[in-house]
Amino acid sequence: MSANAKITHFKTHDIRFPTSLTGDGTDAMNTDCDYSSAYISLYTDSPDKSLVGHGMTFTIGRGNDIVCAAIAEVANRLVGKNLEELFSDMGKTWDYLLADSQLRWIGPEKGVIHIATGAVDNALWDLFAKSRKKPLWKLIVDMSPEELVRSTAFRYITDAITPEEALEMLKAKQAGKAGREAKVREVGYPAYVTSAGWLGYDDEKIARLTREAVHAGFNHFKMKVGADIENDLRRGRLIRSIIDDPAEQRRPAPDPASIIGKNAGPTGAVLMIDANQVWDVPQAIEYVKGLESIKPWFIEEPTAPDDILGHAAVRRALAPYGIGVATGEHAHNRMVFKQLLQAEAIDVCQIDSCRLAGVSEVLSVLLMAAKFGVPVCPHAGGVGLCEYVIHLSLIDYIAVSGTMERNVLEFVDHLHEHFLHPCSINSQGRYNVPNKSEEGYSIEMYEESIAAYEWPGGSYWQKRAAEGK
Ligand SMILES: [Mg+2]
Repeated sequence: MSANAKITHFKTHDIRFPTSLTGDGTDAMNTDCDYSSAYISLYTDSPDKSLVGHGMTFTIGRGNDIVCAAIAEVANRLVGKNLEELFSDMGKTWDYLLADSQLRWIGPEKGVIHIATGAVDNALWDLFAKSRKKPLWKLIVDMSPEELVRSTAFRYITDAITPEEALEMLKAKQAGKAGREAKVREVGYPAYVTSAGWLGYDDEKIARLTREAVHAGFNHFKMKVGADIENDLRRGRLIRSIIDDPAEQRRPAPDPASIIGKNAGPTGAVLMIDANQVWDVPQAIEYVKGLESIKPWFIEEPTAPDDILGHAAVRRALAPYGIGVATGEHAHNRMVFKQLLQAEAIDVCQIDSCRLAGVSEVLSVLLMAAKFGVPVCPHAGGVGLCEYVIHLSLIDYIAVSGTMERNVLEFVDHLHEHFLHPCSINSQGRYNVPNKSEEGYSIEMYEESIAAYEWPGGSYWQKRAAEGK
């Protein structure tokens, strides 16, 4: 790549998939999701014209156009910039992306402008990885501790972790990196499935999907709860009856250390529940106590995502029942994660690859979670998120926390066919390691998929409109 290569221009795409037709993605809060991608491509004048960076953030339909408009505002700041200068200090580049005071006013660091910044920062990291001919995770785990720290967003979190502390943590993990990389390449990264547990599915579909997931080697399963407790108990017992049945198992028993403290059943199967923010704090406590018999490991998003002390109260109240608390997919920046950790409000830290403002802010949360000893289990229920988060979990395991024993990365089996480098799962129900030199952050979509699902002019949506739907 030429040392003088610059970003010349960008394009955004408002891409919407009609998942509301099948009930995919339905939960107690979100009843009609059209999984959508606010997508950006950054073009360069590199002699290798194929050097294009792609990024996206995830929404569930209406408003995706608003995010695309915000992406354009943020991406404008990169036009004309020299690539090597941007890549030489990605933390400084991240600060620059956030430093437009007029755009900052419509956040700051939250809401539409922040997820738009996430799409742009992710596209830039994709470009960086592709320019070095490495998958994104490999680019980052091959960095020196100094370079990784320099790539991290530290503003407003130095009361929880300083760059110097982060440097010491990363140096302590240096010696084992090669061994961990070899191990995860061999065995894959642990995963769990949500696809069986959407609220909009009938019992027959839930049973069939659960059985398929057990046979595929999974032993962690998540179901949506919170609309009706009798319905939740019925579905929970149905799922438990399959995952706890020794006759259904096609895998060896899980390593006992991987399921400690997870309320596992007799076959080692673990069930998690997710309420998507529907309750007030006292209601959350009472409702989840009522689900004790289905033995959940944790309740995810029991209440408002900004309510740090509320989460801490739920966690304290449910601890005697052996049920933990997880959250993070709607935590809008690293400061919320900092407080969740400081307040001892979570057992599991669920970063989102594009609600946080891209890779640099994710790195700050990975470092804080490692310092506080809380496992990171990224959120991936949405289009493109599974493609992204396997990279983040690999960075966490190989370079940051050094452990994947108790971690599980969400897997939902929707819409992977639209990506050039889709994620994949091995026969043990674990993510394979992305390994192609040209895949960057694995988020590039097929041009035909964009042409079909771009809103509102794509061929699919035009056909729907012509049919009057
Ligand atoms: Mg969730």
